[in-house]
Amino acid sequence: MDPLDRHICSHAYEQRQEHHGAVAPPLYQTSIFSFPDLESFSRAQLDERQHFIYSRGLNPTVKLLEDKLAALERGEACKAFASGMGAIAATLFSLLGQGDHVLRINQTYGPAVELLDQMARYGVSHDGISGHQDIGAHLRPETRLIYIESPSSLRMELADLEAIARIARQHGILTLIDNTWATPLFQKPITHGIDLVVHSLSKYIGGHSDVVGGAVIGNAEVIDRLFANGHQLLGAALSPHSASLILRGLRTLPVRMAEHLRHGQAIAAFLDAHPQVAAVYHPSLAQGPAAEWAARQLKGHSGLLSFALHDPSYPRVERFINALQLMRIGVSWGGYESLALSPLRPDGSGQPLIRLAIGLEDIDEIIADLERGFTALDH
Ligand code: PLP
Repeated sequence: MDPLDRHICSHAYEQRQEHHGAVAPPLYQTSIFSFPDLESFSRAQLDERQHFIYSRGLNPTVKLLEDKLAALERGEACKAFASGMGAIAATLFSLLGQGDHVLRINQTYGPAVELLDQMARYGVSHDGISGHQDIGAHLRPETRLIYIESPSSLRMELADLEAIARIARQHGILTLIDNTWATPLFQKPITHGIDLVVHSLSKYIGGHSDVVGGAVIGNAEVIDRLFANGHQLLGAALSPHSASLILRGLRTLPVRMAEHLRHGQAIAAFLDAHPQVAAVYHPSLAQGPAAEWAARQLKGHSGLLSFALHDPSYPRVERFINALQLMRIGVSWGGYESLALSPLRPDGSGQPLIRLAIGLEDIDEIIADLERGFTALDH
């Protein structure tokens, strides 16, 4: 783990002497900031990005989180949002206009695709390809944004970030990556040439399944544009209380991710060796070019993975998941607890996969739970 990242999570930007030495950052639970005179009020209003006026815009607790996230991603600036989708929506709305095209690389988070579908009403189009396809061949004159998930969050697909960044720069196209799977501790896309990074803070960064939040990191000029057009006007502001929970999550992010790395790899290897398993999707098992990209881009792996059973019919997937006792059935991931779900539906539609978010419980207990699932398949 990078010592600078550990320092950022624990100490950077905290200005403790200004807060009576408090080791936990103060929670500025206020909507409004007042001014001593009209002149300073008017001056502040000229630059809402730099002054505390109203917490829909800037709040000191939220700003501390933004400063830390920008530093962790090695970006210039960050804006936090009420959810990952708030961050994605604000980014798309502020950067795209009539006639623009978005090229998606790998499977994109479902609601983001639905939002892009909705944006057809404003003349924005999109399509998607795999990270293994020829990106140049799918660019159009009107492509404004390349939207990447690497690793993606169902099949953990990868993409070559440096190659994408290079071709995007040649064409004057912005690149955006959803870096939620890896967290900034395990992948820093800006250092590979990517322009913008979005996070759902509701996952590993929050880390305790008790908060929803999102963030966008990038260069100061684009984040300013996003602040003015996407954050202030769409209004998905992160509450100071949620920001303080996420700041608490950041304190332990390095130790939690070290454990998720250990657990994710152990469970991927366990499933890979299991006779009932047809395929395992986790970057630790990547092969071919994807293995090269993983080695170059990822400093570690998180604990979200998926696998396919031999004969992945709905009744078998259902039997497996319902037999689990430690793992709860639920969406989202990145908390202390293990979770399982399947996108497969009773009518057979959806992908025939089982997705596991491996938590921080005892590894032998997690394996024993999975054995329960496999045993249920035989009955
Ligand atoms: N990106 C990915 C990969 C996600 O899995 C999610 C949520 O599950 C989001 C973005 C959206 O984040 P949020 O739920 O905080 O809106």
